[in-house]
Amino acid sequence: MLMDGKKIAKEIKEEIKAEIDRIREQYKIFPEVALIMVGKDPASEVYINSQINLCKTLGIEARVFFFENNITEQLLLDLIEDLNNSPTTDGIMLNLPLPKHMNVTKILNNIKLEKDVDGFKAENLGLLFQNDSNFIAPSTPAGIMEMLKRYKIDLTGKDVVVVGRSNIVGKPVAALVLNAHGTVTICNSYTKNLQEKTRNADILISAVGKPEFIKADMVKEGAVVIDVGINKIGNKIVGDIDFENVKDKVSHITPVPGGIGTLTVAMLFSNILKAFKKNRSILEEE
Ligand code: NDP
Repeated sequence: MLMDGKKIAKEIKEEIKAEIDRIREQYKIFPEVALIMVGKDPASEVYINSQINLCKTLGIEARVFFFENNITEQLLLDLIEDLNNSPTTDGIMLNLPLPKHMNVTKILNNIKLEKDVDGFKAENLGLLFQNDSNFIAPSTPAGIMEMLKRYKIDLTGKDVVVVGRSNIVGKPVAALVLNAHGTVTICNSYTKNLQEKTRNADILISAVGKPEFIKADMVKEGAVVIDVGINKIGNKIVGDIDFENVKDKVSHITPVPGGIGTLTVAMLFSNILKAFKKNRSILEEE
């Protein structure tokens, strides 16, 4: 079965919009986010414009900060400090990567916990590993979990293999799977006998960044396969999975494009809603 990221993302965005509309009606307030981008290039501008449009569609106020590549780290830290102290800013979204002269970890860690809607700062990742419900999960791992949930795939007792150990995908998704009672193996480029491990997976999550890296003989019959990879071959976008040869062997598979990438954006906005409700002490609908 093809796991349809577009359909799920549409459902999630509709749910977010309905909740924002309810809160606006009931409390006369709405969420506000800061979108920060350092360095202008056409691809980044397309990306940020799509975020601004989605904010408009969902009823979120967007404050946009564009900077040239050569700004100082201090200027960015000062802006983050101002936004941290602003009572109406519910989330701070810092577009990555940053220019090389900036310390990304330091800057991310300066974002106030409650406004870290990307879920990248150390404190949020720490809460995730403690399985504390106050954490905000990074949106791609959150998207993977939401996809599994909406397709009613229970992780309890399942052998889950994650290929890739980045701080934004591999490690946090492994923690989320553990929290959901899966048994996790996290692989990296030094892993011995990778095929042996991936073939054992009831659920295989690939976040490697190599086109069609996972071949049919690396996948167990009937497995659930989540493809996080976004790789460009000429003008075509492909995932990490050799989709054509794997799709008939497995029970569920995510396409690229139209899979996890689409859900990632929806989950980011779900994080904004979560931060907004927490910051403004808004209760769930009774
Ligand atoms: P990174 O480059 O940070 O991490 C890639 C990981 O893959 C590393 O841990 C690396 O191991 C591992 N790896 C590389 N080669 C092998 C190998 N031969 N065997 C086993 N493991 C290997 O990438 P990201 O996590 O940032 O992204 C991964 C992919 O997901 C990319 O294609 C990216 O574009 C995509 N992506 C998609 C998103 C979405 O919204 N769908 C969001 C974020 C990323 P090691 O640590 O040893 O180097």
